[in-house]
Amino acid sequence: MRYVSTRDATHFATASEAIERGMAPGGGLYVPERIPRLYLSDFSNDEGAVAVGRTLLAPFFRGDPLAGVLGDLCEEAFDFPLPLRPLNERTAVLELFHGPTAAFKDVGARFLAAALARLRPADAPPLTILVATSGDTGGAVAAAFHGRPGMRVVVLYPEGKISPRQEAQLTGWGGNVQAFAVRGDFDDCQRLVKGAFADRALREEMALTSANSINLGRLLPQMVYYADASLRFLREHGVAPGFIVPSGNLGNAVACLWAQRAGLPIREVALSTNANPAIAEYFETGAWEPRPTVATLATAMDVGAASNFERLVHLFGSWAEAHRRVRAVRVSDEEIREEIRRGPERWNTVWDPHTATAASALARLPREPWIVVATAHPAKFEDVVEPLVGETLPVPPSLAVLMERAAAVPPAPTLDPTLSALRDALTA
Ligand SMILES: *Cc1c(COP(=O)(O)O)cnc(C)c1O
Repeated sequence: MRYVSTRDATHFATASEAIERGMAPGGGLYVPERIPRLYLSDFSNDEGAVAVGRTLLAPFFRGDPLAGVLGDLCEEAFDFPLPLRPLNERTAVLELFHGPTAAFKDVGARFLAAALARLRPADAPPLTILVATSGDTGGAVAAAFHGRPGMRVVVLYPEGKISPRQEAQLTGWGGNVQAFAVRGDFDDCQRLVKGAFADRALREEMALTSANSINLGRLLPQMVYYADASLRFLREHGVAPGFIVPSGNLGNAVACLWAQRAGLPIREVALSTNANPAIAEYFETGAWEPRPTVATLATAMDVGAASNFERLVHLFGSWAEAHRRVRAVRVSDEEIREEIRRGPERWNTVWDPHTATAASALARLPREPWIVVATAHPAKFEDVVEPLVGETLPVPPSLAVLMERAAAVPPAPTLDPTLSALRDALTA
């Protein structure tokens, strides 16, 4: 099984090479050369995400050094429940937020960490995973790599611009996880990370890698929960469901589309977005016009130029085909608020602002069987959600533990938004 660059049809890599590199040379993204085709009968003995993952991912890792440990990687990535909860007779919600940092990014981050740990020779110099975060990615990556020998995580976040609970998920770890509060905004953090990767001397001094959603090692395991949930839905209802995926950088959506192409019983994929218009406009008009980011209530989807867009285009080959196969629904902050407000009565559910975009899209989609993809726990965004539903939300246990730890350690050191400050911090 080979992976090819979206920007160079002659550049190939194995899954392991793609995972270690992150991005293909020249800025392309790795995609499967051909999506393997599986059949329902392949999964007839599989119960649960670990078993489904082993079956689904086997052809994606055929001939790869990681093929022999795929079962172990799945056990590490899928060690928390992924409930598929019915909302009514034709609608369900897939809760992806029961991992250590209460968002779906735990799955991809844990699989990636487990894969990199096995690919790294014991005598290799320590690997530094450098991430800029505006919310959920940094926490998931920190949790996944915490305590792993030979690996260090450095997280950059904008000082004063993330919620206290999100901050606790970055600063509460200690050990091999360091967090820095950058005196600037998220774009400054991202610029610093890019600058560090472009700095040859720095890269020669230390093994630097990234863990953002363009890494194949995050996307492949995300196919697994779509496979598992669609198989469960088919077994219970006798029909294939559609998925509504809250989307920002389109990583989660591409994983769902790959699972569909691989033959899983997925009737259709719909994307819900916030007020950042580029994705919905592309499906409406065929023009791809990235914009500066608009701040919304669904902060983890505040993306002006989706980094996985190239993968979507590569998968469909033409706009006409993408337009035929995928719907995108744009949801305003006012609609997010309204959906959260009526969630308890209408669905007996408290939505987080990201999942609320998918729940809101339901009303604008055909009356077919749908699975709403719940990407984060509402208690992570209590400042938005609690006033709207008029109740205090219980904090998930893993998050409570981290908040206690974060309260007991000194606050994260601050960092000037310059490459020399980052270089000093990295090499200190
Ligand atoms: C990252 C994130 C998203 C967006 O996922 P993409 O893969 O970037 O499209 C949606 N919801 C939550 C809670 C997230 O953390």
